[in-house]
Amino acid sequence: MSVLVYIEHAEGSVKKTSLEAVSFAKALSEGEVIAVALGSIDENELANVGKAGADKILHVDDEKLNAGVIQAHAEAVAQAYKQVGANTLVLAKSSLGDAVAARLAVKLDAALVSNVVELPDTSNGYKVKRSIYTGKAFAETTVSKAHKILAVKKNAVDLKTDGAAAAVEKVNFDIAGDNFATQITSTDKATGEVLLPEADIVVSGGRGMKGPENWNLIEDLAKELGAGTGCSKPVSDIGWRPHHEHVGQTGVKVAPSLYVAVGISGAIQHLAGVNSSKCIVVINKDAEAPFFKAADYGIVGDAFEVLPKLTEAVKALK
Ligand code: FAD
Repeated sequence: MSVLVYIEHAEGSVKKTSLEAVSFAKALSEGEVIAVALGSIDENELANVGKAGADKILHVDDEKLNAGVIQAHAEAVAQAYKQVGANTLVLAKSSLGDAVAARLAVKLDAALVSNVVELPDTSNGYKVKRSIYTGKAFAETTVSKAHKILAVKKNAVDLKTDGAAAAVEKVNFDIAGDNFATQITSTDKATGEVLLPEADIVVSGGRGMKGPENWNLIEDLAKELGAGTGCSKPVSDIGWRPHHEHVGQTGVKVAPSLYVAVGISGAIQHLAGVNSSKCIVVINKDAEAPFFKAADYGIVGDAFEVLPKLTEAVKALK
């Protein structure tokens, strides 16, 4: 049986997390991997879905679906799922994905497992490993329903980039008007070149940066690394940085390949938002700062001396 993958995009650019979901589905499926993409998406972007492992892409090229209205997306994906006769839906764990997946679980009478970190173990039943307690533990979930929805955690799988070109089929689904009852009237875009939840590299500053006037040091390093910028909660509470940059238990949870924490002590509430990062680099002048215990690499030093040198070194490397 085939596996269907729900593709998310931001203004036509397919999200990396969705490409990871496609690669996960490719490794999982013994049959075809079919992706469903909703709204206006560039052909080159759809080609990346093929490279990530999709055999075929159903593209509903309807601009009404651009805004990501949850009910409409859930209805379109449900129809796609039934049309292709899939038994598993794979998608990326995300705020839109969570809401769409919950509705699909009801529509398809499917079991939903979220935050999946590994391919299911099918040697004895169907067991799925998922991350819980903001990445501090794993749970094993046994699924007994015939239809399954797996929401894959960011960075949990290696992204495939050598897949063959996928056939793109333009399709239309009959989505009843009441699915568009929610209207998105305006969207406030986060500033900065790289959006924090999507960033593969994040450079974050804490109170050790002393004030907003010093944030150019964080931004310079972020620019050289192609990174998004984040901060600790007090930094956004004081108003040094906007709230959408606040990382942690009560802010944005990130799972980048590289998280650089500068002048952040490493309180448990901050770590709760970053402990799924693949590699953590900590810069702190206090060798006893708790963040060093969670770090892969640490630099004990003054941020105001280390950051310019690090930025120069990255520049030189490039
Ligand atoms: P500080 O604790 O003041 O640490 C500053 C660090 O900078 C120190 O380690 C210091 O050694 C270092 N430093 C100082 N000068 C330099 C320098 N020149 N060079 C290098 N290093 C230097 N916090 C979050 O971040 N996210 C959350 O989501 C969050 N949620 C919370 C929820 C609750 C319910 C509560 C109670 C707290 C929450 N907090 C959260 C706050 C958290 O407990 C910490 O107080 C906060 O993370 C500390 O921020 P900080 O590390 O920037 O500041």
